[in-house]
Amino acid sequence: MGKSSLIKPVLDVEYPVISHGKGVFLYDAFGKEYLDGCSGAVTANIGHGVEEITKAMIEQAEKVSFVYRSQFTSEAAEQLALKLSDLTHGDYPWSFFVNSGSEATETAMKLAIQYWQERGKPQKNRIISRWMSYHGITLGALSMSGHPVRRERFTEILESYPAISAPYCYRCPMQLDSKSCGLACANELEAAIRRIGENHVAAFIAEPVIGAAGAAITPPNGYFQKLKQICEKYNVLFIADEVMTGMGRTGKLLASEHWGVKPDIVTLGKGLSGGYTPIAATLVSDPIIQAILHGSKIIMGGHTFSANPLSCAISLAVLNYLTKHDIAEHAATAGVYLKNKLHSLEQKYSFIGDIRGKGLLLGIEFVQNKKTKKPFPLDASITNTVIKLAMEHGLLLYPAAAGEEGVTGAAIIVAPPLTITEKE
Ligand code: PLP
Repeated sequence: MGKSSLIKPVLDVEYPVISHGKGVFLYDAFGKEYLDGCSGAVTANIGHGVEEITKAMIEQAEKVSFVYRSQFTSEAAEQLALKLSDLTHGDYPWSFFVNSGSEATETAMKLAIQYWQERGKPQKNRIISRWMSYHGITLGALSMSGHPVRRERFTEILESYPAISAPYCYRCPMQLDSKSCGLACANELEAAIRRIGENHVAAFIAEPVIGAAGAAITPPNGYFQKLKQICEKYNVLFIADEVMTGMGRTGKLLASEHWGVKPDIVTLGKGLSGGYTPIAATLVSDPIIQAILHGSKIIMGGHTFSANPLSCAISLAVLNYLTKHDIAEHAATAGVYLKNKLHSLEQKYSFIGDIRGKGLLLGIEFVQNKKTKKPFPLDASITNTVIKLAMEHGLLLYPAAAGEEGVTGAAIIVAPPLTITEKE
């Protein structure tokens, strides 16, 4: 391709021009077919080119595309909030719409801090997160993200939030045996709250299944419940970052449901619109909004495009599609099938160390030696090599961070659209 003024992620790489997509396939301008094995950035949950969605798009655009949220609300935004409340059985009667997962994280952070202000505890303003996590690229969200590669250029200007170990059992950060560890990584949360002081901690944030920073790291049973118990014990809000895991990706609408945990705040993005438009949401439980209603009544957040009717109508159509076609249930069964297939590759190839994940959020970690779990050196760029080769063969995969030498291994995410069939 000739000279271009579009800034791309890697400036000296030529990106194929995409022509169109249908179902689980994308086609470039030369007609080459790609099986979308990672739904873009784990986003195209219902596949490409679904006509119901484009129809809803046109219908809303013909009515009105944009109104400003501080002047008007819209039927589409109200209906979407209602639908999300229904889907979550009334646990989150309040939704705040934004345009990206990063903004959803920022909103969650701000609401958590405001909640304690409204309750007369303004000093309760720290948020604890985990190493091996990704909550977004904006500076607030990045501050809480344990993702060394994405942080390193900005370390000096990032707020330093306290972080605890991740439940990375394949390479336990605490060097413990997963059978006898007593969930020591979850207990670190209690230690951190005690160290900082309960009166200074507003919230704890975690991805139920770790995505970009670890390739589908799934916690052991009991871990998520333990974190929630600790939060309750110390009056700390629990924020579940379900930007990647939400909307059926792991086989349930929200991944937190796997462990019966109800977070106080949930963030959604990606699959919320299946990629048909930029939209994300922060779902909020009633006590938080009641505290604001009985206090300042004002929410200082949001963006020009927040809750715009066009994105809301598109997202509503995607959610209707999800429920109509039992997409989360399908993801659960298809996920078991795909994971079994990946396990058979693991038997065959010595460089596959671990297969993990839930539903259709799966990860493959590469090793030099299966027995010793010796990781590839980071500068070997094994992940990029695999992804490049797969793409040449017409398969799209998602890179997960090979974060720190010796701490994280090189890994990829396999996460096709939730509509994928066994044959595909
Ligand atoms: N949270 C999680 C768990 C994510 O995976 C991502 C993106 O990958 C984000 C937040 C940020 O979302 P966005 O890229 O839409 O800002």
